[in-house]
Amino acid sequence: MSQVSAAPVAGAPVPTVPVAQLAPWALFLGLLATLVLFFVSTDQGAVSVFSGTALHEFVHDGRHLLGFPCH
Ligand SMILES: [Zn+2]
Repeated sequence: MSQVSAAPVAGAPVPTVPVAQLAPWALFLGLLATLVLFFVSTDQGAVSVFSGTALHEFVHDGRHLLGFPCH
């Protein structure tokens, strides 16, 4: 049986996270996630961006997976 050791190695460099370089990507991914959430949750009926039901059917399983009411 193998054992996994989580003890830090002495003298190992601690990586630094460049927050200033990550901020634009975090903003971009946040906006993208908001857009995806809009299309999955809200895009139907009166606030539909695209006409027809193609987008609704495309994200239909995601809608049910996230618990949004659908039909
Ligand atoms: Zn449904």
